[in-house]
Amino acid sequence: MATEIRHPGGAVVPCPAAPLLTGAGGLAGYGFRARTGPVRLLPPGTPSDFQLMTASANVRAPGDGAAAGGCAVVLAVGVMASPKLLRPGGLVRTVLGAWAGAVRPRTVLLASPRSLCAGVERAIEVVEALLERHAGAGRPVFVRKQIVHNTHVVRDLESRGAVFVEELDEVPDGAVVVFSAHGVSPEVREEAVRRGLEVVDATCPLVTKVHSEARRFAARGDTVVLVGHAGHEEVEGTLGEAPEATVLVQSPDDVTALRVPDPARVSYLTQTTLALDETAEIITALEKRFPGIRGPGSDDICYATTNRQHALKAVAAQSDVVLVVGSANSSNSVRLVELAQRGGTPAHLVDDVTGIRPEWVQDAGVVGLSAGASAPQALVDDVVAALGGLGPVTVREHTTVTETVTFGLPAAVRSR
Ligand code: SF4
Repeated sequence: MATEIRHPGGAVVPCPAAPLLTGAGGLAGYGFRARTGPVRLLPPGTPSDFQLMTASANVRAPGDGAAAGGCAVVLAVGVMASPKLLRPGGLVRTVLGAWAGAVRPRTVLLASPRSLCAGVERAIEVVEALLERHAGAGRPVFVRKQIVHNTHVVRDLESRGAVFVEELDEVPDGAVVVFSAHGVSPEVREEAVRRGLEVVDATCPLVTKVHSEARRFAARGDTVVLVGHAGHEEVEGTLGEAPEATVLVQSPDDVTALRVPDPARVSYLTQTTLALDETAEIITALEKRFPGIRGPGSDDICYATTNRQHALKAVAAQSDVVLVVGSANSSNSVRLVELAQRGGTPAHLVDDVTGIRPEWVQDAGVVGLSAGASAPQALVDDVVAALGGLGPVTVREHTTVTETVTFGLPAAVRSR
């Protein structure tokens, strides 16, 4: 797939939409693997099996008068000649045609804040610092679970030497192991001590806050109602702090069905990455059911989740479609998609630019764009660049709040 076309005379035509044409909405969607790169045109008459197919369109930039001319958009695919692929209705023409139909001027409305939060940045820095420290000695750095829920971050750290494992039994005795940003239960900590593992804890301080609340509430004799999603690593860790005293609820119906030993002694906590509106409904149901219920001193849903949801809501209201960059197992990313959808705006989660489909953006004059707290900004930049290959793009940033939160590194990383 051409990222640019180099003409024999020296002219270069950029094709920034190449990742879209290779991705799930392009050739990969048909089971083909394609590579991207510059395509150099041979002088006319040079024999070659290679054929270049292009679809181009003239589009006017937003606000341009009819006389102001336009902007040429070129989508290009180079293929080794194959009658089956090249015939009308064949794969290459189908892919080109689908994306050519999505060519138009558009505005990209960037939700701000978006992308990495302080807890994720800290967790990534922990692994990077350990990789650097142990690289010379050839000592592997193990990480229990994904350090943060993003496939790109994990792949990148893996390529730099980090070894990701699901459980501690995959880690040799005495080795260095990092606990992920989502936290672990006391049982996991105890196993690490028993095995003589050198633990560096990258649990986000805001998750640690919820853990200590769970211990405190249980110690005063309360049933602790944890609002969260079953199976999420953060929830597993929090449940483990006081397993006999804690019950998980996921909906107002769960609250109705709840049975507790003493309805006058109930507290609640929440996962840090829940939807604000849905959680408020569950807490209202809890307060109705247990009028004396006590909650945390400050909200457990963290600042980053809250800010990204407020920003996304504002942007979605002005957009024809919303794209959220994040991985499918990222709770806060999935919540952003659901939030836009509940507000009536079509929304899609993509791990990166290659996940975008032409039908999502073909009629969209305004594309709202955000990223979950574990998705790096570079992935958002890739989306903006690729959309720029489908016609002129005006980028506007919609900022609802400016974040200044940072967390210091754990002592085990700082002190050496
Ligand atoms: Fe911490 Fe919130 Fe980021 Fe999770 S989303 S790592 S709780 S700041």
